[in-house]
Amino acid sequence: MKYLIIFGPPGAGKGTQSKLIAKRYNFKHISTGQLLRQEIEKDTETGKIIRSVIENGEFVDDSLVMDIVKNEVCMDKGNFEGFILDGFPRNIDQAIAFDEMMASYGKKIDAVLSLEIEESIIIKRIQHRANIEGRLDDADFDTVKKRIVTYHEVTEPLITYYKSQNKYFPVNGDMAIEVNFRDICKIIDKL
Ligand code: ADP
Repeated sequence: MKYLIIFGPPGAGKGTQSKLIAKRYNFKHISTGQLLRQEIEKDTETGKIIRSVIENGEFVDDSLVMDIVKNEVCMDKGNFEGFILDGFPRNIDQAIAFDEMMASYGKKIDAVLSLEIEESIIIKRIQHRANIEGRLDDADFDTVKKRIVTYHEVTEPLITYYKSQNKYFPVNGDMAIEVNFRDICKIIDKL
């Protein structure tokens, strides 16, 4: 079993690469953003709260996200050979809580695959995605900017956290999808 995290700023291509990785290695793809958007679609009370938080470019409450992740990690439908976690953890509290949760199951994360990419490129990609997927948080430029600022302030410190655990594997995210994927596979194959 391999337990991986894909890391990077909004628009880095985490979702795209995760889908390819999940298919090639028979991993479960756990995307917190996608799971939260599913909750919004159900139009529950929680879904309504999540909607306004995401629309504002803010983070959903840690305990809610943690519950979602825990549920997905435990619910082992299908014979997966591990998981790829996409969009989580996003702050140090989530990272610590997740390490503790994995430890309680006698498991640990094997690697954090980090898509490193220039800011001008991610803004272009998000603008492009806004036209295709129509996501609530991609449409407004100020919201996109806010998400990027939050990434630098709150999420980026996780790089130091995972480097200190020797689990940090950077990948050049500026490349074409297939080049990016090939670089990622090289890392996974060596784990
Ligand atoms: P992106 O990587 O482009 O930001 P995601 O689909 O991963 O897209 O996330 C979309 C939104 O969902 C985030 O901006 C945030 O509001 C919410 N979200 C996703 N994952 C988390 C998380 N781990 N903690 C808090 N909020 C989250």
